[in-house]
Amino acid sequence: MSTIYESLGTQSASFIRGTHRLLIGGHWVDAQSGKTFDVFDPGTGEVVARVAEGDAVDVDLAVRAARRAFETGDWAKMKPADRTRVMFRLADLIEQHGDELAEIEAVDNGKPLAVAKRGIAGTAEMLRYMAGWATKLNGESVNVSVPGEWHAYTTREPVGVVGQIIPWNFPLSMAIWKIAPALATGCTVVLKPAEQTPLNALRLGQIIQEAGIPDGVVNVVTGFGAMAGAALAAHPDVDKIAFTGSTETGKRIVQAALGNLKKVSLELGGKSPVFVFPDADLDLATTGAANAIFFNSGQVCSAGSRLFVHRKVFDRVIEGVVEHGDTLKVGHGLAPGSQIGPLISSQQMQRVSAYIRQGEEEGARRMNRQSAPDNGGYFVRPTVFIDTSTSMSIYREEIFGPVVCAMPFDDEDLEAIAAEANNSEFGLFAGIWTQNLGVAHKLARRIKAGSVSVNAHMVNEPALPFGGYKQSGWGRERGREVLDLYTSVKSIAINLD
Ligand code: ADP
Repeated sequence: MSTIYESLGTQSASFIRGTHRLLIGGHWVDAQSGKTFDVFDPGTGEVVARVAEGDAVDVDLAVRAARRAFETGDWAKMKPADRTRVMFRLADLIEQHGDELAEIEAVDNGKPLAVAKRGIAGTAEMLRYMAGWATKLNGESVNVSVPGEWHAYTTREPVGVVGQIIPWNFPLSMAIWKIAPALATGCTVVLKPAEQTPLNALRLGQIIQEAGIPDGVVNVVTGFGAMAGAALAAHPDVDKIAFTGSTETGKRIVQAALGNLKKVSLELGGKSPVFVFPDADLDLATTGAANAIFFNSGQVCSAGSRLFVHRKVFDRVIEGVVEHGDTLKVGHGLAPGSQIGPLISSQQMQRVSAYIRQGEEEGARRMNRQSAPDNGGYFVRPTVFIDTSTSMSIYREEIFGPVVCAMPFDDEDLEAIAAEANNSEFGLFAGIWTQNLGVAHKLARRIKAGSVSVNAHMVNEPALPFGGYKQSGWGRERGREVLDLYTSVKSIAINLD
């Protein structure tokens, strides 16, 4: 084993080394098949844990447990204020275990420890924000026009058993983004973490038990997408499936959900534009544009992977972004001073490297030449391309790595600029850097994307809805809007005559 693990605290080290079973109905159980699979540290390529390999049989047991908990358990019937209290307790526990969770994330996902620690605070805030909604899920009284005297009103009821399939880029916070609105609304959950990063979902399962959330309300089934994930998406007794991941897999989820027409929400890919106008604070914009694509090694659905810079300031901004990328310390998540970590897997490293080669073959100019650490980890250094064109695959496709395509723009014709931003099958996010409020508002209006940030890149704010136009997804997570995904509205009309 690499010596890097000597810096782990005793709790995270013993958790990672421990036995990892499935959480079903409040019990930690082996997969029925007895199978397990390896978990790799992407920073070293070493196997760090073995985890139960759940399949359709285990998913079925978990769905049954979630159904029992929903229909007969205390959670959905619990007073909303009590649900809030339990969720607050969970948020407090996540913060108390913050260092440990961050260390597990650094080993499992590869992100730098400091970044993982910052993520913990956001995760706890998401839980607290959603916890607050539990007491505010009201219907309304409705004025009806049919003859007679009526009392008509609506109620909001939990949608039921929810399957949640999450990706590997932010293992803990993606789990909480999914679980929090389900808990607030009184649903029960079967969570399927990504096979690359199952550890923190399992540790979270333990903390959920410690917080006093009743058995069966949250079940965790680790396993592969094509087996456990597909079984959950297709299960006839799952009322809703919530998915975050690639657009390709999202389409499979939709197909699988057809059988019982379960509700589906999808948070999928992106190819998000960032615009830098010449009047922007160029230092901030340059750092912002660099962070937009290099943060988390570009493994972010809302990464700013298409950078449009006004020709007047193009050279200056691009030089700055290249330099920013070149000076970032790329290294193992636990190594002191690491600023960006590895990609998640050897497969992902090969995929991103293939895009970089293809970009060069197609005639784009690659501005960075530094090489990545060579220690067995899955590292790819920040990469900026100029001389790109709209037909190139690096420009059109989601790379999910630290690779940005830069393009100059010449005029202030906002219709033309927005048309270029919208020239994509995705529509998740856009960033605009300008001091001109008129330009900012007008462009924000014209962009077909679920979120727009001005003079910032992505605000990690639980109150702001997040989700995609076009093939970036269905529905909105975060904010009040997510509650619509986890509740059904019932209208009740009483004839008073
Ligand atoms: P990637 O290809 O980068 O791993 P995915 O979108 O395939 O991204 O993975 C996101 C999540 O979807 C993971 O939890 C994965 O296990 C799951 N998944 C993959 N394939 C399927 C599938 N066919 N049905 C359901 N879930 C799947």
